[in-house]
Amino acid sequence: MATKKNSASSILAEQSAPPSAAPEKTSPLVEDKQVTITSSALQELLASVISKTQEQASLQTKALVDAILESRKPYVDPKRAENEKRWRESMRRQRLKLDASLKADQNRCEHIMGSNALSEYPDLHRRSSILKHALDTGEVIGMCTNCGRVWWPDDPDYFSQLKRHTTNKMSQAGQRFSVIAKRQLQKLQEKEREKEAQKK
Ligand SMILES: [Zn+2]
Repeated sequence: MATKKNSASSILAEQSAPPSAAPEKTSPLVEDKQVTITSSALQELLASVISKTQEQASLQTKALVDAILESRKPYVDPKRAENEKRWRESMRRQRLKLDASLKADQNRCEHIMGSNALSEYPDLHRRSSILKHALDTGEVIGMCTNCGRVWWPDDPDYFSQLKRHTTNKMSQAGQRFSVIAKRQLQKLQEKEREKEAQKK
């Protein structure tokens, strides 16, 4: 209070001072004084105060929203998360083992009727245990009733395996309308071509 270098520090000093401290001394800045300010400067001052207030309000709102979102997150016990991770890994290893064992069985299988583990002896005529199945797309796949291997038309041994002698009958799924319509169209086009050829 003794030194009054600038107005802000003296106001702060005045406010923070205990009420008992030097009550008789009054700072000239505390006294009412007429201050003149231009209207543009006043507008600027008000705009700055408003923008500061809005900025602070938006920061507070953001902090509140963040806190609410954080409180809604379910608590995950790290021990439990670790257990689940280990369980998933163990399931994956089991799956890989099963896949490998199935693959080995399929490679060993001769795809001959009665050659699975439950049969006494394989078919004497060595007839194939592969059955053919027509999908609704018209595609024909093969499947061994012993080992479960499936043959698709792009498999390298598809034709050699599916043409083997067997007593299995072809099974068929319903046909898709688009496939039937395509065949009908092909037949019509063939007839048209035949007619054209006859005219020539
Ligand atoms: Zn097989």
